[in-house]
Amino acid sequence: MPKPQREIYPYLAWENDYLFIKDNISLLCLVCKNRLQTFKKYNVQRHYAKFHELEYEKYKGELRKKKINELKNEIKLVQNSSDTTHFEKALMDKTVLSELAFLTDFTQHMNNLNLKLQGKNQSISDVIHFINGFRIKLNLFKIEIEKEEFHHFPCCQEIKEEHPDVDFTDFGDLINEIAIDFHSRFKELLILENDILLFNNPLTVPIEKQNIKYRSELCDLRVDPCLSMKKETGIEFFKLLPKNLYPELRNFGLRIASMFGTTYSCESAFSLIKLIKNKNRASLTDDRLSTLMRIAISKIEIDIEELVNMKINDEINKKN
Ligand SMILES: [Zn+2]
Repeated sequence: MPKPQREIYPYLAWENDYLFIKDNISLLCLVCKNRLQTFKKYNVQRHYAKFHELEYEKYKGELRKKKINELKNEIKLVQNSSDTTHFEKALMDKTVLSELAFLTDFTQHMNNLNLKLQGKNQSISDVIHFINGFRIKLNLFKIEIEKEEFHHFPCCQEIKEEHPDVDFTDFGDLINEIAIDFHSRFKELLILENDILLFNNPLTVPIEKQNIKYRSELCDLRVDPCLSMKKETGIEFFKLLPKNLYPELRNFGLRIASMFGTTYSCESAFSLIKLIKNKNRASLTDDRLSTLMRIAISKIEIDIEELVNMKINDEINKKN
């Protein structure tokens, strides 16, 4: 008995009955875009019955054909959007290449700045220092790129070596625009500039340019034999000032040191609150929560011995 001839083109029927089409390597479900690697009717039928029959059984005859065409068009759209020849062509274009190289190098510089601005223990003074440094760098970058010197632009250098006729000088204007944006974004920092100068160099700033309330204390400070030789800087220096002699300057130091340079504390507080308010802590009061948060966020070391002594003294006093 001859073998029954295998049906070679069952796929048209499958398209209509089970909403599957065949492409080069597999069977594609028009509805969920899943692929079946086995070309067996049983699998196709099972997939359709399990996932789509309920929704698509109502489409019959002409209506079904229309629906299938809609689904097929959707797939065509997806396939066209994954067509990469456009990008391949773009990568042969020298202008696109030069823009891409510039963008890569410049993003790297922005990234470096971004990393410097993150992390623990950043004072407002550190942040201003990094931002101002970057602003000066922008000026330098502009001058360099207009002369096509690529010390800070390694990718541009590479493109220039490959295509000597590519012109990078126009990017100077772009850097200029970025510098202007930078200036308007961080203009509030300028207000603090004088204070930061005083905070970092209390012994050397020109006294007559400082706020009147600090001037007298600054004069005393400059000739104070205990303080004028100190190597400490920033908040560590202000901590050394005796409260009775330099009340205004001490307050000033505290004010600057307590400004948040970054959102680090705020962000880490959210992670910590998640750890503290876990499901095993059933009787956490609001009071206890804020105390726990303070301990978790603070950098201050806890003097347990001192606390225990205080507690013991309290108890003794109560007994007496
Ligand atoms: Zn499907």
